[in-house]
Parts: sequence; C-alpha cells; structure tokens
Amino acid sequence: MRKKIVAGNWKMNNGLNQTTSLINELKELDFYRDVSVMISPAFPFLKTAIDLVNNSSIEVISQNVHQKKQGAYTGEVSVEMLKSIGINKTLIGHSERRVYSNENDTVLLEKVELALSNDLDIIFCFGEELFERKSNNHFQVVKNQLENTVLKLDRHLWRKIVLAYEPIWAIGTGETATPEQAQEMHEFIRKCILESYDKTTSENVSILYGGSIKPSNATEIFSKKDVDGGLIGGASLDAKDFQLIIKANSSL
Ligand code: PEP
Repeated sequence: MRKKIVAGNWKMNNGLNQTTSLINELKELDFYRDVSVMISPAFPFLKTAIDLVNNSSIEVISQNVHQKKQGAYTGEVSVEMLKSIGINKTLIGHSERRVYSNENDTVLLEKVELALSNDLDIIFCFGEELFERKSNNHFQVVKNQLENTVLKLDRHLWRKIVLAYEPIWAIGTGETATPEQAQEMHEFIRKCILESYDKTTSENVSILYGGSIKPSNATEIFSKKDVDGGLIGGASLDAKDFQLIIKANSSL
C-alpha cells in the first residue's frame, strides 16, 4: 500500500527565529495519522529542526544534496553530512535547482544513486514547462526526465523513492494544474514505471503533485486516484494552511 504524504518545501525562506516558531506552531496542531508530514527547512537549520520535532510525527527532510561523496566542493552539502545529523530523506531535482543551478539529468542521476546507496531516501521532482505543455509535448518530456534518471535504477531501490510531479508553470505562480490534468499525468507516470518494472512497483510508489496547492484546491486534487499527496511551497510557510492541506489528504 502506498503512503499518503504532504511535504513542505520551505525553500530559501525563514531565518532561525522564524524556523523555530513555525515548527513550534506546527507541533501544536493536530495532524492525521494516515498522512506522513514532512518539512524541509534550509540547511543551516536542519539540526535545530530535527531537535525541535523530536517526539512529534513530523519528519525533517533536506531540499538538496550534492552528487559527490566529499571533497573540494565549496558551499555544498554531502549525503554523509545529512545522514550524520539524522536526515533520512531529501528532495532531488526540484525545478528551481534544474533552472538556477543547471542541474541536468546526468547530475540528477548521480545524486539519486549516491543518496539511495547510502540510505538517504528521495523525493524526486520533475515536470514540464509551459511551452512543452502548450505544444502537447508534456508526456514525452516527463517520460524522458524519468527514463534518464529514476527508471535506470534497480527495482529494489523503488521502495526508497517518492515521486513529485511538478509542472513548472504551476510552481509559485498561483496557477494550478486541474485535478484532471494531475490525474492524467500521474496515471501516465505509473504506466511508465509499469513498463520498466512491474505492477507492484508501479502501484506502490507514492506520486505527489506540486504546484500552487492551497487549502482551497487541495481536496479536489488529492481526491484523484493516482495522486497520493502534495509537495507544497508557499502554503507550507503558514502553519494553519499547511494543516488544512494535510487534512485534505486524510481519509480519517
Ligand atoms: C514547490 O516549490 O515545490 C511548489 C510546489 O511551490 P508552490 O506550492 O509555491 O507552487
């Protein structure tokens, strides 16, 4: 059975005081046991966040990790560093990293392989640009992104993978894919996994949707059968909104 997940991507927002108060606010709220809740503060605050969420059901994850094991890579953070402070999951391939840091499929595959071989689970992000959807190329673009990266992995690694379909035109724009567009793409993604592996693998992987999810549109999107939750940017910075989005994904 696949997991329901709501993960907050805090991006480059919040200093120490804001990070601490947002986590304390979240800890006061009731969540739903059937939804895994994750937050991803910026690197400098990960250890503080881990200490703060102690004894709650919130998992702290990283927004990124470097593709090399260690060495002269100024400003970067390694898998081993993250593991040493108790991080067990990271985002990889967020569109903002693909665009602003030129992370291509080759680099992303290196990151994925290094993370998974060191027991750092991943939420792998991908999705098409607006012109690609407008030219009706979105299925092929997504298929290529997957075939060049996660679909190259051994089947047994798929239990450590969550996918996040994030159409770039919907990230931080206020524009959301319709529930039908999300469902159609998620079903297609599951079909790609089925073709590369088997039914168990394709049915067991959680596929999140990301792109301007808010309390007002979350229920409809999460109600689609192949949408297992969301990766939330802007709305995850507000504890109450984040709670409502988690509630929208719960069957309890
Ligand atoms: C994201 O950055 O992953 C994201 C989905 O952002 P937003 O919810 O703000 O569109």
